[in-house]
Amino acid sequence: MADQFDVVIVGSGVAGLSTALAARGARVAVVTRGVIGLDGASSWAQGGVAAAIGPGDSPSQHALDTLKAGCRRNHKAAVRWMAESAPEVVRWLVDIGTEFDRIGANLALGREAAHSFPRIVHAGGDASGAEIMRALRAAVEMSSHIETFEHCQVRELIKLNQSVVGTAVQNNQGEAFELYAPHVVLATGGVGQLFLNTTNPPECDGSGLAIAHRAGAELADMEYVQFHPTALAPAQPGQGEQLLLITEALRGAGAQMVNEQGLRFMLAQHEAAELAPRDVLSRAVWSQLEHGHVVYLDARMLGDSLRQRFPTVFRSCQQRNIDPRQELIPVVPAAHYHMGGIKVDLHSLSTLNGLYAIGETACTGVHGANRLASNSMLEGVAFGRVLGERLARMPKPARIPPVGLGIWREPNKGAPISEAMVFARLRQLMWSCAGLVRYEDALEAAVDQLQLLERRCLNGAKVLDQLLVGRLLVEAARRRTESIGAHAIAPRRPQVSGQAAA
Ligand SMILES: Cc1cc2nc3c(=O)[nH]c(=O)nc-3n(C[C@H](O)[C@H](O)[C@H](O)COP(=O)(O)OP(=O)(O)OC[C@H]3O[C@@H](n4cnc5c(N)ncnc54)[C@H](O)[C@@H]3O)c2cc1C
Repeated sequence: MADQFDVVIVGSGVAGLSTALAARGARVAVVTRGVIGLDGASSWAQGGVAAAIGPGDSPSQHALDTLKAGCRRNHKAAVRWMAESAPEVVRWLVDIGTEFDRIGANLALGREAAHSFPRIVHAGGDASGAEIMRALRAAVEMSSHIETFEHCQVRELIKLNQSVVGTAVQNNQGEAFELYAPHVVLATGGVGQLFLNTTNPPECDGSGLAIAHRAGAELADMEYVQFHPTALAPAQPGQGEQLLLITEALRGAGAQMVNEQGLRFMLAQHEAAELAPRDVLSRAVWSQLEHGHVVYLDARMLGDSLRQRFPTVFRSCQQRNIDPRQELIPVVPAAHYHMGGIKVDLHSLSTLNGLYAIGETACTGVHGANRLASNSMLEGVAFGRVLGERLARMPKPARIPPVGLGIWREPNKGAPISEAMVFARLRQLMWSCAGLVRYEDALEAAVDQLQLLERRCLNGAKVLDQLLVGRLLVEAARRRTESIGAHAIAPRRPQVSGQAAA
């Protein structure tokens, strides 16, 4: 089967659906691994969307905070443009039906670490992503210009005369088909699943980066991965499932980090203690774990208000039989957000003609070496809307001659080692070698091990994409010899007694 559209969008998170909605007037296909708008990271977002709309605040101050968080490695023009677009992004989300929390008639504004003002628009307390995605999904259902392909995975990009002209897709029955379009938009999210501990759901495994790289698109800033300091520790360490996030708004509300001895270790690490930048906090937690300690978040002082203000956190703790009003919450750091990705210009165009990238999979440069909290939902909508509107204005394409599935081939039967085992090994390697602190000797060994695993997998195995992205990330981390932002590098792992970080 093959079909032609004006635009093919891969991924149905906040970036993919914003682009699709804005492309009204074009015939748009949205391909997604699970159910439209429910798979991917977007519906898990807790804090909300950053926008300078409060008294005394300004887009220039928002831009400044973004640059500071990104260690000024950001693309300045992109930062300025995004901060200026943010109020309009919030208006657009309200217009499509998002019900943000309000105080009276005004939008309620939360404050998060490294923001100079309260500027986080949120919904349902800490259920912002779920509400935004509910509204986007409802708008997509009402839009006749969008056709959806659920439970389908894009395996390759199709090229003709050096331009991307379509995608090779596989559904969950293993059937392959092609979707052609002169404009292909990758909105495939982040890479968290490549790490043992992650807040990201299973769809966030960097597959968009693998297919873009194989097609010849340039990737950038691959080494910049943000680790969240407070994910709910797994019941069984090392199980590798998606870990539930304990929002930093909880620390904003007064929760403190302590170890099993009751020591509030952040006091000695940073003047802002628990409100220090994410990377500082994450590395302090990592160091505690490496020295055999157990780390907890103490939110008991919030008492019953915790249940109303942080319903998602409360529910997550309950699932682990923890009552956060009376008990400490065990936490670990976890891979959370990828600042790097497919290199794009201010119009979201990659280095390949016909290929665009949007949202977390793109590297617009707005985040620099570290992302300011709540800037990523904003980025997805801001860049997605403008791209969608622009693509809808493009002249309608002539018929693209079918190229066929081309470089994509059926996997050989009977892989010599199980893909699940290879994936588990990859996640462990990435966590220990390319995690919060990257040790030069371990990175070198990791490249060899990843290449060995790649050689043992048969052509067409999906895990090859994950291994490829893992290797590209490790290679980029090796090249970046200075510690900056989310990337910390040291010559070798210190010898510590006691338990290693799990
Ligand atoms: C727990 C958590 C809390 C967060 N809180 C916030 C917050 O408060 N504020 C904020 O700004 N950011 C937050 N973030 C980050 C933010 O949620 C993400 O950066 C953002 O949602 C990414 O959106 P996206 O559309 O780029 O990708 P995603 O929402 O991850 O969507 C990716 C899509 O691509 C699809 N896909 C992937 N590969 C393929 C393929 N090969 N073929 C077909 N489909 C594919 C997936 O199925 C999915 O639909 C949070 C993240 C997490 C995990």
